[in-house]
Amino acid sequence: MTDIDSLRNVLELERRKGYTDKAVIGGLDKYLHKQAGQIRQSLVLSLNEVKTKELIPQLLSGFDELNLARSNYGSYGPDERKRWMANVLGWLDEMEGKTKTDRSQEPVVSRQETEDRRQESVVSSQETGDRRQESGVSSRETGDRRQESVVSRQETEDRRQKTGVSSQKRREGLDSPITVIKGIAPTVANKFAKLNVRTLGDLLYFFPRRYVDYSRRKPISELIEGEEQTIIGTIWQARVATLGNRKGTEAIVGDETGNIRVVWFNQPYLAKSFRTNARVVISGTVGVFKGHKVFESPEWELLKDKELIHTGRLVPVYPLTQGLYPRQVRKWTKETVDGYLWQLSDFLPPGIKTRCQLLDLPAAIAQIHYPDDLTMAERARGRLSFDELFLLQLGVLARKRDWKEGQPGNAFHIDQEVISRFLGCLPFTLTRAQERVLQEILTDLKQAKAMSRLLQGEVGSGKTVIATLALLIAAANGYQGALMAPTEVLAEQHYANICGYLSQAQHSSHECWMTTALLTGSLSSSEKERLHDKIKQGKVDIIIGTHALIQKEVEFKKLGLAVIDEQHRFGVLQRSALRQKGFNPHVLVMTATPIPRTMALTLYGDLDLSVIDELPPGRQVVKTKCLEPRYREKAYTFLHREVSNGRQAFIICPLVEESEVLEAKAAKTEYERLSREVFPGLKLGLLHGQMPGNEKEEVMRHFRAGELDILVSTSVVEVGIDVPRASVMMVEGAERFGLSQLHQFRGRVGRDKEQGYCLLIPEKLSPEARERLRLMEKVHDGFALAEKDLEIRGPGEFFGTHQSGLPDLKLAKLTDLHSLELARQEAITLFQSDPNLKKAEHQPLRQQLSRVWAGGAEWS
Ligand code: ADP
Ligand code: MG
Repeated sequence: MTDIDSLRNVLELERRKGYTDKAVIGGLDKYLHKQAGQIRQSLVLSLNEVKTKELIPQLLSGFDELNLARSNYGSYGPDERKRWMANVLGWLDEMEGKTKTDRSQEPVVSRQETEDRRQESVVSSQETGDRRQESGVSSRETGDRRQESVVSRQETEDRRQKTGVSSQKRREGLDSPITVIKGIAPTVANKFAKLNVRTLGDLLYFFPRRYVDYSRRKPISELIEGEEQTIIGTIWQARVATLGNRKGTEAIVGDETGNIRVVWFNQPYLAKSFRTNARVVISGTVGVFKGHKVFESPEWELLKDKELIHTGRLVPVYPLTQGLYPRQVRKWTKETVDGYLWQLSDFLPPGIKTRCQLLDLPAAIAQIHYPDDLTMAERARGRLSFDELFLLQLGVLARKRDWKEGQPGNAFHIDQEVISRFLGCLPFTLTRAQERVLQEILTDLKQAKAMSRLLQGEVGSGKTVIATLALLIAAANGYQGALMAPTEVLAEQHYANICGYLSQAQHSSHECWMTTALLTGSLSSSEKERLHDKIKQGKVDIIIGTHALIQKEVEFKKLGLAVIDEQHRFGVLQRSALRQKGFNPHVLVMTATPIPRTMALTLYGDLDLSVIDELPPGRQVVKTKCLEPRYREKAYTFLHREVSNGRQAFIICPLVEESEVLEAKAAKTEYERLSREVFPGLKLGLLHGQMPGNEKEEVMRHFRAGELDILVSTSVVEVGIDVPRASVMMVEGAERFGLSQLHQFRGRVGRDKEQGYCLLIPEKLSPEARERLRLMEKVHDGFALAEKDLEIRGPGEFFGTHQSGLPDLKLAKLTDLHSLELARQEAITLFQSDPNLKKAEHQPLRQQLSRVWAGGAEWS
């Protein structure tokens, strides 16, 4: 029995009982208030069977007028009750009559009592008729559309042409702020700014992350549960409704094959947008509620004379920030594409486009936002990512040319005697990989061209010894050598190591021709001045320091070799700043960030590549274990044990995305908790990015000197710090870090002969996180982990590209070797034919290059 049948039964019982409100225990009103929603639901569902669609709005509004959910039957007097009852039963008759008539095409004998209402309903039938006339156009349209199953672009195009609405060329330049678009207020523009979108040009280059495929149109009767589909239909009714226990919008939409209920949760204001009889496109996943199909919060769009952008097609999904809504953003990107794209000219030489079968630029931009189909979306992506890689390559090649071939470099004489004496004094012999890399470097240093070499090697692979040798050769040739490290602690560490290596070598030779100095920000200004003087006069041979080295007060007498440690911490600009300090000096860049070779060729295409792919013998792998949070106590016990055996430990606090302040706060809280509750007897230190530089250095110094047992820290300890006695690295919130970063962390321990341990404690262990952290347990090769990381997180996160000084890659994937190779080849070819992009036909390209490489001096 349907809810409508029960309603009739209850009401008729009440009438038989003489309107005494005895039919329902607790009163009729209570029943009605509770049931009204259900009854309406079943009414809606029964409307599916109605053939004359135009009746639907009328039936529904008739029901709503009864206002059963707020009935007041109990308070009425006998006459009023009688009248009320007649009214409701009358409506029921009418409804059933109509639906039945409709179903069986037979008149139904009606009750006397409802005669009056029937009269009324004639009037409203008339009305409906009129309305039907009005909407005749769309009815005919419906007929035409019955054939199609896909909403094609052609169709919308046609519709646009018919109505004379075409995209209007707008004149504001692409550098204009996005606020020239109607609806983009300054507050909205601020939100876009967070996404790096400020100008119209930026908006054209603001690409969707993916598309939802709403291109498959279905007749309502053929909708399939669980699939993304699109219908085009007529709104029979729309109203504010209580869904769950919140207000929302409910509409009944029908086409020539049936009706469907459509609901939008929490959006009661939508009801106003849906005029009865308006044509609407609904796109979304079809669900089932109480055995009937329903669209829940689908995308929607009124069918007007405009191209569809939210429904009925591949709909773009943009990466948004708080306060920006998908519908608005689509409207604006569409407006920008339609109004301004004509201004964008293609900068790629036609030959390249033909050879690589690339779309024209404007077509690619239009298609990446609102693609005709997935093939076009893919081609658009192909063109635009080619641009990124190609421009990247060109820039990198130009830099290499400028540095290497610009001016002659200083050819060093390599004195084998000096080298063997140095090597003879080391407490170890070089690994084969170190030997090979050393030869590569020495070969470079002999040339009259400046060396530009990237030295890659795992944490602990022994890059410093090699760098020291190179510095020694420079000094032996009467030049100065400089080594720049990203932090004071690291600079100090290098200074100590290098002095150690050198002093042994000098002792054995009884000569004393080498002076070294440390230049950091924490020197007093008089000390600094004195040192600056010495450097200028050439009284120091080897200078080790931080950013302080590239301050403008620092002048070298004769800088012949610049070594830069931990490359990924420095941008391209800092690198060239140090280079500028000398007359085309040799440059050696060192990094422990393992970059797969193909990628290195792209990103550091300006540098030659040397890799130390072997660790010194006897180095143990750091035993790594991922522990569920509930076993944290065990980890603490383990730390206790290690400390009592004279070792030290790191505890890394979880990464707080984009907030160093919060991260520091969390670390502080954790430090206090651990000091008080877990390790009250031990000496703990705290390190975070919000501490002033000298405090950080101070804490690190204490830790290195063994005055602290445990260092509680944020991710700032990541880079190259050498604490020989540290044996445990415990990482909280481990799933938030990238694999490469975790690998760097664990490189901090087990630097001595002793076994090192790494304990990873995730906060929440999703299946993916578990799999990722498992890799850390099994894989100890930094390169393999880096490749995995790239696959999982993408290059942006991996390199922190904002720092790198390289143009951003939005679409291109550095893991796509084929595209990399293609772009590289084309760049090399172009470079051979027109190295300075002087030809007239290359001017647009030249301009694009300087736009993309903003900040790079090469093209400005
Ligand atoms: P990284 O590549 O991380 O900068 P370092 O140069 O700091 O590595 O070297 C790490 C440690 O290994 C140092 O203590 C260094 O003295 C030692 N080391 C370097 N080369 C060798 C080798 N061939 N054999 C043994 N130990 C070495
Ligand atoms: Mg190092």
